[in-house]
Amino acid sequence: MKADRRSVAILGAGIAGLSIACELSENGRVLTVVEKSPFVGGIARSVEKDGFIFDLGGHRIYSDKKWVIEKVKNILGGDLDLVSRKSRIRLGERFIDYPPKPLSVLSSFGLWEGTNILASYISSAVKTKVNAQKGDSFEQWVVSRFGTKMYEIFFKPYTEKVCGLPCSEISADWGVKRVGVESLLQAFRKALFQANGLSRTYAAQFYYPRKGIGTIAATMADKVNKGDNRILLGWEVKEVRWQQKAIESLLIANGDKQEELVADRFISTIPLTLLVSLMRPALPPDILEAALKLQYRALVCILLIVDKERITDDHWIYFPDKDIVFARAHEPRNWSEELVRDGRTSLCVEILCSKDDQTWLATDEIITEKVVADLSNLGILNSDEVMGSFVERIPYAYPLLKLGYQDHLAELMGCFSQIENLHLIGRTGTFKYWGMDDVIEEAVLAANKMLR
Ligand SMILES: Cc1cc2nc3c(=O)[nH]c(=O)nc-3n(C[C@H](O)[C@H](O)[C@H](O)COP(=O)(O)OP(=O)(O)OC[C@H]3O[C@@H](n4cnc5c(N)ncnc54)[C@H](O)[C@@H]3O)c2cc1C
Repeated sequence: MKADRRSVAILGAGIAGLSIACELSENGRVLTVVEKSPFVGGIARSVEKDGFIFDLGGHRIYSDKKWVIEKVKNILGGDLDLVSRKSRIRLGERFIDYPPKPLSVLSSFGLWEGTNILASYISSAVKTKVNAQKGDSFEQWVVSRFGTKMYEIFFKPYTEKVCGLPCSEISADWGVKRVGVESLLQAFRKALFQANGLSRTYAAQFYYPRKGIGTIAATMADKVNKGDNRILLGWEVKEVRWQQKAIESLLIANGDKQEELVADRFISTIPLTLLVSLMRPALPPDILEAALKLQYRALVCILLIVDKERITDDHWIYFPDKDIVFARAHEPRNWSEELVRDGRTSLCVEILCSKDDQTWLATDEIITEKVVADLSNLGILNSDEVMGSFVERIPYAYPLLKLGYQDHLAELMGCFSQIENLHLIGRTGTFKYWGMDDVIEEAVLAANKMLR
Protein backbone atom coordinates (compact mmCIF):
# COMPACT_ATOMS: atom_id res chain seq x y z
CA MET A 1 0.00 0.00 0.00
CA LYS A 2 1.55 3.29 -1.03
CA ALA A 3 0.78 6.77 0.27
CA ASP A 4 0.24 9.68 -2.09
CA ARG A 5 0.04 13.36 -1.11
CA ARG A 6 -2.34 15.69 -2.94
CA SER A 7 -3.58 19.11 -2.15
CA VAL A 8 -7.25 18.08 -2.40
CA ALA A 9 -9.02 14.71 -2.37
CA ILE A 10 -12.61 14.62 -3.63
CA LEU A 11 -14.88 11.71 -2.76
CA GLY A 12 -17.29 11.01 -5.62
CA ALA A 13 -17.33 12.07 -9.29
CA GLY A 14 -20.96 13.11 -9.64
CA ILE A 15 -21.93 16.64 -10.65
CA ALA A 16 -20.96 18.01 -7.22
CA GLY A 17 -17.50 16.41 -7.10
CA LEU A 18 -16.68 17.31 -10.69
CA SER A 19 -18.01 20.88 -10.42
CA ILE A 20 -15.78 21.69 -7.49
CA ALA A 21 -12.90 19.81 -9.13
CA CYS A 22 -13.24 22.07 -12.21
CA GLU A 23 -13.17 25.23 -10.10
CA LEU A 24 -10.21 24.15 -7.97
CA SER A 25 -8.11 22.74 -10.80
CA GLU A 26 -8.62 25.93 -12.84
CA ASN A 27 -7.06 27.69 -9.87
CA GLY A 28 -4.01 25.50 -9.66
CA ARG A 29 -5.03 22.98 -7.00
CA VAL A 30 -3.69 19.47 -7.57
CA LEU A 31 -6.39 16.98 -6.88
CA THR A 32 -7.52 13.41 -6.89
CA VAL A 33 -11.15 12.46 -7.42
CA VAL A 34 -12.05 9.00 -6.13
CA GLU A 35 -15.11 7.40 -7.72
CA LYS A 36 -16.47 4.00 -6.83
CA SER A 37 -18.20 3.33 -10.13
CA PRO A 38 -16.38 2.85 -13.44
CA PHE A 39 -18.11 6.00 -14.78
CA VAL A 40 -18.31 9.66 -13.89
CA GLY A 41 -21.65 11.47 -13.46
CA GLY A 42 -23.26 9.70 -10.50
CA ILE A 43 -27.04 10.08 -10.71
CA ALA A 44 -26.66 12.48 -13.64
CA ARG A 45 -24.87 10.08 -15.96
CA SER A 46 -26.15 8.72 -19.25
CA VAL A 47 -25.70 5.12 -20.31
CA GLU A 48 -25.37 3.87 -23.85
CA LYS A 49 -26.88 0.55 -24.90
CA ASP A 50 -26.59 -0.65 -28.50
CA GLY A 51 -26.30 2.94 -29.72
CA PHE A 52 -29.29 4.19 -27.67
CA ILE A 53 -28.49 6.76 -24.98
CA PHE A 54 -30.49 6.92 -21.74
CA ASP A 55 -30.44 9.24 -18.72
CA LEU A 56 -31.27 7.44 -15.51
CA GLY A 57 -34.56 9.29 -15.24
CA GLY A 58 -34.81 12.20 -17.70
CA HIS A 59 -32.64 15.10 -16.49
CA ARG A 60 -33.26 18.62 -17.73
CA ILE A 61 -31.19 21.70 -17.05
CA TYR A 62 -33.15 24.45 -15.43
CA SER A 63 -32.21 27.28 -13.11
CA ASP A 64 -33.61 30.64 -12.15
CA LYS A 65 -29.97 31.78 -11.88
CA LYS A 66 -28.65 32.85 -15.26
CA TRP A 67 -25.01 32.45 -14.28
CA VAL A 68 -25.53 28.75 -13.53
CA ILE A 69 -27.02 28.20 -16.99
CA GLU A 70 -24.15 30.21 -18.53
CA LYS A 71 -21.68 28.01 -16.68
CA VAL A 72 -23.27 24.85 -18.10
CA LYS A 73 -23.35 26.42 -21.57
CA ASN A 74 -19.64 27.24 -21.28
CA ILE A 75 -18.85 23.70 -20.21
CA LEU A 76 -20.75 22.18 -23.12
CA GLY A 77 -19.61 24.74 -25.68
CA GLY A 78 -23.14 25.38 -26.96
CA ASP A 79 -24.08 21.73 -27.52
CA LEU A 80 -27.40 22.41 -25.84
CA ASP A 81 -31.01 22.61 -27.07
CA LEU A 82 -33.78 24.73 -25.58
CA VAL A 83 -36.76 22.40 -25.28
CA SER A 84 -40.45 23.21 -24.66
CA ARG A 85 -41.72 20.89 -22.01
CA LYS A 86 -44.73 18.61 -22.39
CA SER A 87 -45.68 16.19 -19.64
CA ARG A 88 -48.79 14.33 -18.64
CA ILE A 89 -50.09 12.43 -15.66
CA ARG A 90 -52.28 9.33 -15.85
CA LEU A 91 -55.24 9.59 -13.52
CA GLY A 92 -57.73 6.73 -13.62
CA GLU A 93 -58.18 6.01 -17.30
CA ARG A 94 -57.14 9.51 -18.43
CA PHE A 95 -53.92 11.25 -19.34
CA ILE A 96 -54.01 14.92 -18.39
CA ASP A 97 -51.48 17.75 -18.68
CA TYR A 98 -48.93 17.96 -15.92
CA PRO A 99 -48.64 20.41 -14.25
CA PRO A 100 -52.44 20.72 -14.53
CA LYS A 101 -54.02 23.46 -16.64
CA PRO A 102 -57.57 24.61 -15.73
CA LEU A 103 -59.09 23.59 -19.06
CA SER A 104 -57.57 20.12 -19.06
CA VAL A 105 -58.78 19.59 -15.47
CA LEU A 106 -62.30 20.64 -16.46
CA SER A 107 -62.35 18.58 -19.65
CA SER A 108 -60.88 15.52 -17.93
CA PHE A 109 -62.91 15.63 -14.74
CA GLY A 110 -66.08 17.23 -16.07
CA LEU A 111 -67.85 20.29 -14.75
CA TRP A 112 -69.06 18.69 -11.49
CA GLU A 113 -65.73 17.21 -10.35
CA GLY A 114 -63.83 20.25 -11.69
CA THR A 115 -66.04 22.59 -9.66
CA ASN A 116 -65.56 20.39 -6.59
CA ILE A 117 -61.79 20.70 -6.95
CA LEU A 118 -62.11 24.47 -7.17
CA ALA A 119 -64.53 24.67 -4.21
CA SER A 120 -62.23 22.57 -2.03
CA TYR A 121 -59.33 24.85 -3.01
CA ILE A 122 -61.26 28.04 -2.17
CA SER A 123 -62.37 26.64 1.19
CA SER A 124 -58.81 25.65 2.13
CA ALA A 125 -57.42 28.97 0.89
CA VAL A 126 -59.88 30.84 3.12
CA LYS A 127 -59.09 28.59 6.11
CA THR A 128 -55.37 29.08 5.57
CA LYS A 129 -55.83 32.87 5.47
CA VAL A 130 -57.95 32.82 8.63
CA ASN A 131 -55.83 30.37 10.64
CA ALA A 132 -52.48 31.10 9.01
CA GLN A 133 -52.16 27.29 9.06
CA LYS A 134 -48.88 26.07 7.60
CA GLY A 135 -48.18 22.63 9.05
CA ASP A 136 -45.05 20.50 9.17
CA SER A 137 -46.14 17.59 7.01
CA PHE A 138 -46.38 17.41 3.24
CA GLU A 139 -50.07 16.52 3.66
CA GLN A 140 -50.78 19.71 5.63
CA TRP A 141 -48.64 21.75 3.26
CA VAL A 142 -50.58 20.60 0.19
CA VAL A 143 -54.08 20.60 1.69
CA SER A 144 -53.69 24.13 3.02
CA ARG A 145 -52.53 25.39 -0.39
CA PHE A 146 -54.38 23.28 -2.93
CA GLY A 147 -57.41 21.85 -1.10
CA THR A 148 -58.31 18.28 -0.16
CA LYS A 149 -59.49 17.26 -3.63
CA MET A 150 -56.25 18.16 -5.42
CA TYR A 151 -54.34 16.51 -2.60
CA GLU A 152 -56.27 13.27 -2.95
CA ILE A 153 -56.29 13.21 -6.74
CA PHE A 154 -52.78 14.44 -7.61
CA PHE A 155 -50.35 14.84 -4.77
CA LYS A 156 -51.04 11.99 -2.34
CA PRO A 157 -50.87 8.97 -4.66
CA TYR A 158 -47.79 10.08 -6.60
CA THR A 159 -45.81 11.30 -3.59
CA GLU A 160 -46.58 8.17 -1.59
CA LYS A 161 -45.41 6.06 -4.51
CA VAL A 162 -42.16 8.03 -4.82
CA CYS A 163 -41.42 8.14 -1.08
CA GLY A 164 -42.96 4.84 0.04
CA LEU A 165 -44.46 6.67 3.07
CA PRO A 166 -47.82 8.24 3.96
CA CYS A 167 -47.80 11.98 3.14
CA SER A 168 -48.55 12.69 6.81
CA GLU A 169 -45.04 11.34 7.59
CA ILE A 170 -43.25 13.36 4.91
CA SER A 171 -41.84 16.79 5.70
CA ALA A 172 -43.37 19.92 4.17
CA ASP A 173 -39.89 20.58 2.72
CA TRP A 174 -40.74 18.00 0.06
CA GLY A 175 -43.56 20.30 -1.11
CA VAL A 176 -41.39 23.40 -1.11
CA LYS A 177 -38.87 21.70 -3.37
CA ARG A 178 -41.02 19.39 -5.45
CA VAL A 179 -44.15 21.51 -5.98
CA GLY A 180 -42.69 24.95 -5.56
CA VAL A 181 -45.78 27.06 -6.22
CA GLU A 182 -47.80 28.39 -3.30
CA SER A 183 -51.39 27.85 -4.49
CA LEU A 184 -53.63 26.29 -7.11
CA LEU A 185 -54.19 29.73 -8.59
CA GLN A 186 -50.46 30.32 -8.95
CA ALA A 187 -50.09 26.83 -10.43
CA PHE A 188 -52.80 27.47 -13.03
CA ARG A 189 -51.35 30.88 -13.82
CA LYS A 190 -47.90 29.41 -14.38
CA ALA A 191 -49.25 26.52 -16.43
CA LEU A 192 -51.50 28.82 -18.50
CA PHE A 193 -49.02 31.53 -19.27
CA GLN A 194 -46.09 29.12 -19.61
CA ALA A 195 -44.17 31.27 -17.20
CA ASN A 196 -40.63 30.45 -16.25
CA GLY A 197 -40.08 31.45 -12.66
CA LEU A 198 -38.92 30.18 -9.36
CA SER A 199 -40.52 26.74 -9.51
CA ARG A 200 -38.79 24.05 -11.56
CA THR A 201 -41.97 21.94 -11.66
CA TYR A 202 -43.76 24.65 -13.61
CA ALA A 203 -40.90 25.69 -15.89
CA ALA A 204 -42.20 25.62 -19.46
CA GLN A 205 -38.79 25.33 -21.11
CA PHE A 206 -35.48 23.77 -20.24
CA TYR A 207 -32.06 23.10 -21.70
CA TYR A 208 -30.87 19.68 -22.70
CA PRO A 209 -27.51 18.45 -24.06
CA ARG A 210 -28.07 16.68 -27.39
CA LYS A 211 -26.10 13.56 -26.43
CA GLY A 212 -27.66 13.12 -23.00
CA ILE A 213 -27.26 14.68 -19.58
CA GLY A 214 -24.11 12.64 -18.96
CA THR A 215 -22.26 14.93 -21.39
CA ILE A 216 -21.99 17.53 -18.62
CA ALA A 217 -20.08 15.25 -16.24
CA ALA A 218 -18.01 13.73 -19.05
CA THR A 219 -16.92 17.19 -20.26
CA MET A 220 -16.15 18.33 -16.72
CA ALA A 221 -14.03 15.21 -16.20
CA ASP A 222 -12.04 15.97 -19.39
CA LYS A 223 -11.34 19.46 -18.06
CA VAL A 224 -10.14 18.12 -14.70
CA ASN A 225 -8.13 15.15 -15.96
CA LYS A 226 -5.02 17.11 -16.90
CA GLY A 227 -1.49 17.56 -15.56
CA ASP A 228 -1.03 16.03 -12.13
CA ASN A 229 -4.74 15.66 -11.44
CA ARG A 230 -6.24 12.19 -11.28
CA ILE A 231 -9.76 10.83 -11.51
CA LEU A 232 -9.65 7.31 -10.12
CA LEU A 233 -12.60 5.37 -11.52
CA GLY A 234 -13.57 2.06 -9.95
CA TRP A 235 -11.85 3.07 -6.70
CA GLU A 236 -14.01 2.95 -3.58
CA VAL A 237 -13.41 4.93 -0.41
CA LYS A 238 -13.35 2.27 2.31
CA GLU A 239 -12.21 4.28 5.32
CA VAL A 240 -11.91 7.95 6.21
CA ARG A 241 -9.13 8.23 8.79
CA TRP A 242 -9.26 11.19 11.14
CA GLN A 243 -7.66 12.44 14.29
CA GLN A 244 -7.86 15.63 16.35
CA LYS A 245 -10.40 17.48 14.25
CA ALA A 246 -8.74 16.69 10.91
CA ILE A 247 -8.93 14.02 8.22
CA GLU A 248 -5.53 12.44 7.72
CA SER A 249 -6.11 10.08 4.81
CA LEU A 250 -8.48 7.86 2.89
CA LEU A 251 -8.17 4.14 2.47
CA ILE A 252 -9.26 3.46 -1.11
CA ALA A 253 -9.60 0.13 -2.87
CA ASN A 254 -10.00 -1.27 -6.34
CA GLY A 255 -10.52 -5.04 -6.20
CA ASP A 256 -7.47 -6.44 -4.41
CA LYS A 257 -5.49 -3.20 -4.67
CA GLN A 258 -5.45 -0.75 -1.77
CA GLU A 259 -3.92 2.71 -1.44
CA GLU A 260 -3.74 5.30 1.26
CA LEU A 261 -4.52 8.75 -0.08
CA VAL A 262 -3.18 11.68 1.92
CA ALA A 263 -4.30 15.24 1.22
CA ASP A 264 -4.53 18.67 2.84
CA ARG A 265 -8.26 18.99 2.25
CA PHE A 266 -11.05 16.51 1.68
CA ILE A 267 -14.35 17.19 -0.07
CA SER A 268 -17.05 14.57 0.33
CA THR A 269 -20.00 14.18 -2.05
CA ILE A 270 -20.68 10.51 -1.23
CA PRO A 271 -23.92 9.67 0.63
CA LEU A 272 -23.84 11.44 3.98
CA THR A 273 -24.89 8.38 5.96
CA LEU A 274 -22.26 6.27 4.21
CA LEU A 275 -19.59 8.80 5.15
CA VAL A 276 -20.64 8.47 8.79
CA SER A 277 -20.13 4.72 8.61
CA LEU A 278 -16.67 5.05 7.00
CA MET A 279 -15.15 7.31 9.69
CA ARG A 280 -12.22 5.73 11.58
CA PRO A 281 -12.18 5.89 14.52
CA ALA A 282 -15.98 5.57 14.54
CA LEU A 283 -18.05 8.65 15.38
CA PRO A 284 -19.89 8.78 18.74
CA PRO A 285 -22.97 6.50 19.15
CA ASP A 286 -25.49 9.39 19.07
CA ILE A 287 -24.15 10.39 15.63
CA LEU A 288 -24.34 6.81 14.36
CA GLU A 289 -27.91 6.68 15.64
CA ALA A 290 -28.86 9.96 13.96
CA ALA A 291 -27.41 8.63 10.68
CA LEU A 292 -29.61 5.53 10.92
CA LYS A 293 -32.66 7.81 10.96
CA LEU A 294 -31.80 9.37 7.62
CA GLN A 295 -32.67 7.23 4.64
CA TYR A 296 -32.41 7.55 0.90
CA ARG A 297 -34.94 6.26 -1.61
CA ALA A 298 -33.52 3.96 -4.27
CA LEU A 299 -34.35 3.97 -7.98
CA VAL A 300 -34.46 1.16 -10.50
CA CYS A 301 -34.48 2.28 -14.15
CA ILE A 302 -35.72 -0.13 -16.79
CA LEU A 303 -34.37 0.90 -20.19
CA LEU A 304 -36.21 -0.44 -23.22
CA ILE A 305 -35.36 -0.31 -26.92
CA VAL A 306 -38.62 -0.32 -28.85
CA ASP A 307 -39.27 -1.22 -32.48
CA LYS A 308 -41.49 1.76 -33.16
CA GLU A 309 -40.68 5.22 -34.43
CA ARG A 310 -42.23 7.09 -31.51
CA ILE A 311 -44.47 6.19 -28.57
CA THR A 312 -45.53 9.55 -27.13
CA ASP A 313 -44.63 13.20 -27.56
CA ASP A 314 -44.16 13.77 -23.82
CA HIS A 315 -41.01 14.47 -21.87
CA TRP A 316 -42.30 12.76 -18.77
CA ILE A 317 -45.44 10.76 -18.02
CA TYR A 318 -46.36 10.29 -14.36
CA PHE A 319 -48.18 7.20 -13.08
CA PRO A 320 -49.53 7.67 -9.52
CA ASP A 321 -51.71 4.53 -9.69
CA LYS A 322 -50.60 2.00 -7.02
CA ASP A 323 -51.34 -0.93 -9.31
CA ILE A 324 -48.81 0.21 -11.89
CA VAL A 325 -45.32 -0.85 -10.86
CA PHE A 326 -43.52 2.30 -12.12
CA ALA A 327 -43.94 5.96 -11.14
CA ARG A 328 -42.64 7.76 -14.21
CA ALA A 329 -41.49 7.15 -17.76
CA HIS A 330 -39.68 9.22 -20.36
CA GLU A 331 -39.04 8.74 -24.04
CA PRO A 332 -35.50 9.93 -24.86
CA ARG A 333 -36.38 10.72 -28.53
CA ASN A 334 -38.52 13.61 -27.31
CA TRP A 335 -35.52 15.09 -25.49
CA SER A 336 -33.09 14.76 -28.39
CA GLU A 337 -33.20 12.86 -31.68
CA GLU A 338 -29.52 12.02 -31.12
CA LEU A 339 -30.40 9.60 -28.31
CA VAL A 340 -32.01 7.05 -30.65
CA ARG A 341 -31.18 5.43 -33.98
CA ASP A 342 -32.45 3.39 -36.94
CA GLY A 343 -35.97 4.83 -36.85
CA ARG A 344 -36.55 3.15 -33.48
CA THR A 345 -37.35 4.67 -30.13
CA SER A 346 -36.65 3.87 -26.49
CA LEU A 347 -38.23 4.29 -23.08
CA CYS A 348 -36.83 4.74 -19.57
CA VAL A 349 -39.19 3.63 -16.84
CA GLU A 350 -38.55 4.53 -13.18
CA ILE A 351 -39.45 2.39 -10.17
CA LEU A 352 -38.83 3.83 -6.71
CA CYS A 353 -38.05 1.41 -3.93
CA SER A 354 -35.94 0.90 -0.83
CA LYS A 355 -32.46 -0.50 -1.05
CA ASP A 356 -32.68 -4.20 -0.23
CA ASP A 357 -36.49 -4.52 -0.62
CA GLN A 358 -38.14 -7.02 -2.99
CA THR A 359 -38.07 -4.69 -5.98
CA TRP A 360 -34.42 -3.81 -5.46
CA LEU A 361 -33.44 -7.46 -5.14
CA ALA A 362 -35.65 -8.78 -7.98
CA THR A 363 -33.81 -10.10 -11.01
CA ASP A 364 -33.63 -7.89 -14.10
CA GLU A 365 -35.84 -10.38 -15.96
CA ILE A 366 -38.63 -10.33 -13.38
CA ILE A 367 -38.67 -6.58 -13.04
CA THR A 368 -38.61 -6.01 -16.81
CA GLU A 369 -41.41 -8.52 -17.33
CA LYS A 370 -43.61 -6.62 -14.83
CA VAL A 371 -42.85 -3.28 -16.46
CA VAL A 372 -43.55 -4.51 -19.98
CA ALA A 373 -46.81 -6.16 -18.83
CA ASP A 374 -47.98 -2.87 -17.28
CA LEU A 375 -46.94 -0.87 -20.35
CA SER A 376 -48.91 -3.18 -22.63
CA ASN A 377 -51.97 -3.11 -20.32
CA LEU A 378 -51.82 0.67 -20.55
CA GLY A 379 -51.68 0.47 -24.36
CA ILE A 380 -48.30 2.23 -24.44
CA LEU A 381 -46.51 -0.57 -26.28
CA ASN A 382 -46.85 -4.25 -27.20
CA SER A 383 -44.45 -6.69 -25.61
CA ASP A 384 -43.30 -7.95 -29.03
CA GLU A 385 -42.10 -4.42 -29.87
CA VAL A 386 -39.43 -4.56 -27.13
CA MET A 387 -36.13 -5.34 -28.88
CA GLY A 388 -33.79 -4.99 -25.93
CA SER A 389 -33.88 -4.17 -22.23
CA PHE A 390 -31.41 -3.21 -19.51
CA VAL A 391 -31.73 -2.40 -15.84
CA GLU A 392 -29.76 0.20 -13.86
CA ARG A 393 -29.98 0.56 -10.08
CA ILE A 394 -29.27 3.77 -8.13
CA PRO A 395 -29.08 3.09 -4.38
CA TYR A 396 -29.07 6.73 -3.18
CA ALA A 397 -31.45 8.50 -5.57
CA TYR A 398 -33.60 10.72 -3.32
CA PRO A 399 -33.07 11.91 0.25
CA LEU A 400 -36.18 10.75 2.07
CA LEU A 401 -37.42 13.90 3.80
CA LYS A 402 -39.31 12.29 6.68
CA LEU A 403 -40.96 14.48 9.29
CA GLY A 404 -38.27 15.59 11.73
CA TYR A 405 -35.36 14.72 9.42
CA GLN A 406 -33.92 18.22 9.93
CA ASP A 407 -32.92 17.45 13.54
CA HIS A 408 -30.93 14.33 12.59
CA LEU A 409 -29.35 16.15 9.67
CA ALA A 410 -28.35 19.07 11.88
CA GLU A 411 -26.69 16.62 14.29
CA LEU A 412 -24.58 15.10 11.53
CA MET A 413 -23.68 18.42 9.94
CA GLY A 414 -22.77 19.82 13.37
CA CYS A 415 -20.46 16.88 13.99
CA PHE A 416 -18.73 17.14 10.60
CA SER A 417 -18.36 20.91 10.88
CA GLN A 418 -15.84 20.28 13.66
CA ILE A 419 -13.49 18.52 11.27
CA GLU A 420 -11.60 21.46 9.90
CA ASN A 421 -10.25 20.11 6.61
CA LEU A 422 -13.45 18.29 5.56
CA HIS A 423 -16.09 19.95 3.36
CA LEU A 424 -19.42 18.34 2.56
CA ILE A 425 -21.22 19.34 -0.63
CA GLY A 426 -23.76 17.97 -3.14
CA ARG A 427 -27.26 16.56 -3.04
CA THR A 428 -26.26 13.09 -1.90
CA GLY A 429 -23.41 14.39 0.26
CA THR A 430 -25.54 16.81 2.28
CA PHE A 431 -28.91 15.03 2.13
CA LYS A 432 -30.72 17.79 0.23
CA TYR A 433 -33.46 17.45 -2.35
CA TRP A 434 -31.52 19.41 -4.93
CA GLY A 435 -31.34 19.69 -8.70
CA MET A 436 -28.05 19.83 -10.61
CA ASP A 437 -28.26 23.62 -10.72
CA ASP A 438 -28.31 23.86 -6.91
CA VAL A 439 -25.42 21.41 -6.74
CA ILE A 440 -23.32 23.36 -9.27
CA GLU A 441 -24.07 26.65 -7.52
CA GLU A 442 -23.05 25.27 -4.12
CA ALA A 443 -19.85 23.75 -5.54
CA VAL A 444 -18.79 27.04 -7.14
CA LEU A 445 -19.46 28.97 -3.92
CA ALA A 446 -17.60 26.37 -1.83
CA ALA A 447 -14.61 26.49 -4.19
CA ASN A 448 -14.52 30.30 -4.03
CA LYS A 449 -14.46 30.11 -0.25
CA MET A 450 -11.65 27.55 -0.25
CA LEU A 451 -9.60 29.59 -2.70
CA ARG A 452 -9.77 32.78 -0.64
C1 LIG B 1 -34.71 10.33 -11.20
C2 LIG B 1 -34.01 11.65 -11.02
C3 LIG B 1 -34.27 12.68 -11.90
C4 LIG B 1 -33.63 13.91 -11.74
N1 LIG B 1 -33.91 14.91 -12.63
C5 LIG B 1 -33.27 16.09 -12.52
C6 LIG B 1 -33.52 17.12 -13.47
O1 LIG B 1 -34.33 16.98 -14.38
N2 LIG B 1 -32.83 18.29 -13.32
C7 LIG B 1 -31.93 18.49 -12.29
O2 LIG B 1 -31.33 19.58 -12.22
N3 LIG B 1 -31.68 17.53 -11.38
C8 LIG B 1 -32.32 16.34 -11.47
N4 LIG B 1 -32.07 15.34 -10.56
C9 LIG B 1 -31.10 15.60 -9.47
C10 LIG B 1 -29.64 15.42 -9.92
O3 LIG B 1 -29.46 14.13 -10.45
C11 LIG B 1 -28.73 15.61 -8.72
O4 LIG B 1 -28.94 16.89 -8.16
C12 LIG B 1 -27.24 15.49 -9.02
O5 LIG B 1 -26.95 14.51 -9.97
C13 LIG B 1 -26.53 15.15 -7.70
O6 LIG B 1 -25.15 15.10 -7.89
P1 LIG B 1 -24.17 14.78 -6.68
O7 LIG B 1 -22.79 14.83 -7.22
O8 LIG B 1 -24.51 15.65 -5.53
O9 LIG B 1 -24.53 13.29 -6.20
P2 LIG B 1 -24.28 11.87 -6.91
O10 LIG B 1 -24.61 11.96 -8.33
O11 LIG B 1 -25.01 10.89 -6.07
O12 LIG B 1 -22.71 11.64 -6.76
C14 LIG B 1 -22.10 10.95 -5.68
C15 LIG B 1 -20.99 10.08 -6.26
O13 LIG B 1 -20.31 9.43 -5.19
C16 LIG B 1 -19.96 8.11 -5.62
N5 LIG B 1 -19.70 7.27 -4.44
C17 LIG B 1 -20.59 6.74 -3.57
N6 LIG B 1 -19.96 6.01 -2.63
C18 LIG B 1 -18.63 6.09 -2.89
C19 LIG B 1 -17.45 5.57 -2.26
N7 LIG B 1 -17.51 4.83 -1.14
N8 LIG B 1 -16.25 5.86 -2.81
C20 LIG B 1 -16.16 6.63 -3.93
N9 LIG B 1 -17.24 7.14 -4.56
C21 LIG B 1 -18.46 6.89 -4.04
C22 LIG B 1 -21.20 7.69 -6.40
O14 LIG B 1 -20.91 6.59 -7.25
C23 LIG B 1 -21.53 8.97 -7.17
O15 LIG B 1 -20.88 9.02 -8.41
C24 LIG B 1 -32.71 14.11 -10.67
C25 LIG B 1 -32.45 13.06 -9.78
C26 LIG B 1 -33.10 11.85 -9.94
C27 LIG B 1 -32.84 10.73 -8.97
